[in-house]
Amino acid sequence: MNLREIGEFGLIERIKKSTSTGRGVVLGIGDDAAWVKAEKAPLLFTSDLLLEGVHFNLKWNPLFDLGYKTLAVNLSDIAAMGGIPDYLIMSLGIPIDFKVKDIEEFYRGIRSLASRSGVSLVGGDTSAANRFFVSAFLVGHAPFGPVSRSGAKVGDDLYVTGTLGDSSLGLDLLRKSRGRHRQTDVRFLTTRHRRPTARLRVGTLLAKEKLARAMIDVSDGLVQDLAHICKASGTGAIIWQDSIPLSRPFRRSPVPNRACYPLMGGEDYELLFFSRPRDRMRLQKIRKRLNVPVTRIGRCVPAGQGIKVLDGEGKPIKLPQPGYDHFKFKRRLYSA
Ligand code: ADP
Ligand code: MG
Repeated sequence: MNLREIGEFGLIERIKKSTSTGRGVVLGIGDDAAWVKAEKAPLLFTSDLLLEGVHFNLKWNPLFDLGYKTLAVNLSDIAAMGGIPDYLIMSLGIPIDFKVKDIEEFYRGIRSLASRSGVSLVGGDTSAANRFFVSAFLVGHAPFGPVSRSGAKVGDDLYVTGTLGDSSLGLDLLRKSRGRHRQTDVRFLTTRHRRPTARLRVGTLLAKEKLARAMIDVSDGLVQDLAHICKASGTGAIIWQDSIPLSRPFRRSPVPNRACYPLMGGEDYELLFFSRPRDRMRLQKIRKRLNVPVTRIGRCVPAGQGIKVLDGEGKPIKLPQPGYDHFKFKRRLYSA
């Protein structure tokens, strides 16, 4: 079915029909604005814009995965504040040759993650566009108080959840397969790219236990995001390269420049945080409850020392660039 046949309002009607309202929603899709019950906790607001050709390429991003990822990257921002996500607003620019089922696939991807993370889709906006674009706006709350980027102190330990480098290697594999990889490894790495996992449980638990002094999610690359959190905290940091957690599929993959992916590759959506050394034992204790690896990879140092990555012999390594920057980066990641 074509979009022309059902029109903008027919499409909205279909989105509304397939969306169930959840916790706190008095009026969802269908009125002039959504109406929700106010939380008795600090509110969090975050938004992300995804453009075809800049953030994704429809050749290798199925629409289901794109919907999934759109929500995941926003969930990750709420996780990085130690919050709980609640309400989602989705605005779409849709090329006229899209089929109705394409958009329904996209929303299926969103719903599959929304229902699991307690998020209600409560509204949005729809327009025709030359290229597909998506803007997601997510509201959450922080019952234990938000964790900002700015609380790190010299001497703090630096931790990261999960593994790094998978997503950017996965993207490279989607762009063009090089080398001989195991099929299961390719599937793991490309799935890490197309359907990232937001570390919501870890984020809220760290906030509840007051274990994270400063936190950010790794979206643009470890070094770059570390630089953000250090700048906000007025500190520097060192990373021990050998301690960076890598997945088995990543380690097994035959790739050139393998050191670059975990340091500079983006979109892993793991949590990066500073914690007091005296909280090491407490962190150790709750690790089991987290169900996700949490690895100590460095330390907070005075601002004057900047950000350094030390190799196995303790020598600083040179990096061509810290990570992704939309206005500086030469390589267009998602153009065909
Ligand atoms: P308005 O003209 O007041 O902006 P719309 O006709 O654009 O109203 O939207 C009608 C209802 O449908 C609103 O509740 C709006 O939030 C919702 N909506 C519109 N587009 C989308 C979309 N892509 N996804 C979810 N909800 C949508
Ligand atoms: Mg509108």
